Amino acid sequence: MNATQTIPVAITDFTKRYGAQEAVSNLTLDIERGSICGLLGPNGSGKTTTFKCLLGFARPTSGSMAIEGAPLTPATFEYLGYVPERSALYEWMTGAQHLEFNRRTFKSYDPKRAAELVDLFKVDLKKRVGKLSKGQHTALAIVLAFSTRPRILILDEPASGLDPMFQRAVLDLIIEAAANGATVVFSSHQIGQVERAADRVAILKNGKLIVDGTVDSLKGSEKIVEAIFDQMIPDLNGLAVDPRISRIVRSGRILRAYVNHDSEGVARRINELAPKNVSILDLSLEDIFINAVGDVAAASPNGDR
Ligand code: ATP
Repeated sequence: MNATQTIPVAITDFTKRYGAQEAVSNLTLDIERGSICGLLGPNGSGKTTTFKCLLGFARPTSGSMAIEGAPLTPATFEYLGYVPERSALYEWMTGAQHLEFNRRTFKSYDPKRAAELVDLFKVDLKKRVGKLSKGQHTALAIVLAFSTRPRILILDEPASGLDPMFQRAVLDLIIEAAANGATVVFSSHQIGQVERAADRVAILKNGKLIVDGTVDSLKGSEKIVEAIFDQMIPDLNGLAVDPRISRIVRSGRILRAYVNHDSEGVARRINELAPKNVSILDLSLEDIFINAVGDVAAASPNGDR
């Protein structure tokens, strides 16, 4: 089987324990070629642990990780680019020395591409890494990761510390790489970034996969009927047991009903409560994230808080 037929990134029943603590539990995730998978989760949910094991920097306690159908070896880095959460750069070396190091290490290193990226991120190659700002440090890591034109990219918070322009440039690079057939897994706490770039989302909570699906299918699963009241939210008059509604969330004078079908009908019913305004909204990735991991003032309809 050749590289184009195998699954680029396959994580199977992966568990990682640190002593008594289970950082990741029985994670299974296959990432298809050309896909951009956004790995989301609160702090400490196991994202970096997953990346470290994928990259061979830590060993799974059980389960397996395969890159293009085989365990990772040093040769894998010819076609796999990565940006770790914590810097893997040498503080005493300059940016130029890092590029030279990569030129000597990887046959796939493309000096023209590297020069374009240095220009794009305005990295000062003469400075020692220890003297770069946090953003420039990240930018150099991005330049190195993309300068081999890798067909697999594993990026742990690749835009952290970058200003909004450079964040956008990183997202554009990710999207462009995937459009050219690369497979990307990246984590970010900026849900907007994931929403913009990813076609697939996996959400971890306490080391467990709690949401996995395409962005479109997750967003299409529900609508939000949002009502704003002048005064206090009135008695909901049986709305709580409406089978079209999966959850009701109140926040001050705002009522949000998460609706699995017939959002127009639910909006008409909520309108009878005489709110100032009612609108039907698409679910955002942030809603999906907060619903999945958050302890917001949400209740099942029966709770009707
Ligand atoms: P963040 O969003 O804050 O970067 P994360 O989702 O990347 O978090 P991990 O860094 O994978 O989370 O950590 C998962 C859990 O494993 C945490 O409880 C963390 O304290 C623990 N952990 C991570 N690395 C180690 C280690 N080397 N030794 C012991 N525990 C660890």
